Amino acid sequence: MNRVFNFSAGPSMLPLPVLETAASELVCYRETGMSVMEMSHRSPAYEEIITEAESLLRKLMSIPDNYKVLFLQGGATTQFAAVPLNLMKSGKADYVVSGQFSKKAWKEAQKYGDAVCIASSEDKNNTYIPKVTREIIRPDADYVHICMNNTIYGTKYPEIPDTGDIPLIADLSSCILSEPFDVSKFGVIYAGAQKNMAPAGLTVVIVREDLLGSARPDTPVMLDWKTMADNGSMYNTPPCYCIYMAKLVYEWILSLGGLEAMKLKNQRKAAILYDYLDAQNYYTAPVEKPFRSMMNVTFVTGDPDLDKKFAKEADAKGLKNIKGHRSVGGMRASIYNAMPEEGVSALVAFMKEFAEQNPKH
Ligand SMILES: *Cc1c(COP(=O)(O)O)cnc(C)c1O
Repeated sequence: MNRVFNFSAGPSMLPLPVLETAASELVCYRETGMSVMEMSHRSPAYEEIITEAESLLRKLMSIPDNYKVLFLQGGATTQFAAVPLNLMKSGKADYVVSGQFSKKAWKEAQKYGDAVCIASSEDKNNTYIPKVTREIIRPDADYVHICMNNTIYGTKYPEIPDTGDIPLIADLSSCILSEPFDVSKFGVIYAGAQKNMAPAGLTVVIVREDLLGSARPDTPVMLDWKTMADNGSMYNTPPCYCIYMAKLVYEWILSLGGLEAMKLKNQRKAAILYDYLDAQNYYTAPVEKPFRSMMNVTFVTGDPDLDKKFAKEADAKGLKNIKGHRSVGGMRASIYNAMPEEGVSALVAFMKEFAEQNPKH
């Protein structure tokens, strides 16, 4: 069977060359005579894999030396608890709610202290990013938390907010590695891997060293970043195979020219969709233009029955998982790094065809 264009928001497409390399090494990894899945995480062969994965990620994202890179389990959602547990020293934290994931993060933090929502876009169903200025941040907050790219709604911060001396903590699950981000502007970056990096099961945390070591005493050891940093992400068994897959993805991105090249490629892909959306009036793109995501593109026909028909017919043409999140409806095309430009062009061709064949009354 041929591979389809999979527009799923996550888990999502992985680059074909990565899957092929993984397949060729699946049964016997190089000279080890075993699969990476069967290897001790303390073996020299595996040590080399995880070390290389970290150094490639550092190179790709230009991660400064005073940041630790952690390869953890539990998904981004586990970090919703790890963030307050590790960082709420004075018990105060400020959250920006720009979608469902940031809201969940805020809710989780409320279990551990005084977590306040300082800005929200819920008044317009999260079709924009609220303005974050220093004035709205409590001067004694331990940190400010944002979700950089809102996977469900298809919005993204046009720039990294300036939080002054207060550490900025960001969920980058659905935009990490899609373009360069200045890591030094963040106190902590975390991301579940299954959008743009690897299969589900791996969570990457990038944390500035001075933020380590202040976890609450009742923090579960698995959520204490310092313990993980001191043990090279191997306090217990790490998600070995996912880290290997991430390493292959990092190599693939480097081979294409790194994050600057990735950004150009992603801008081109997103423009194919947005340019078409702006040039017609059959479909509506609900997100305000300055806040459009390059990774998740949402649009609706305005008629739930037509939306349903669209998703069904797209699926039959090999354009998979285009149905929007249940809370938004309509359609969502997730076009992460691994989605080829041809996939986006095929989608736009189908959108035109569908609009012609299904006139609205
Ligand atoms: C998918 C996603 C999550 C949830 O990630 P899990 O790894 O399933 O916990 C959180 N935040 C963002 C921005 C996401 O896209």
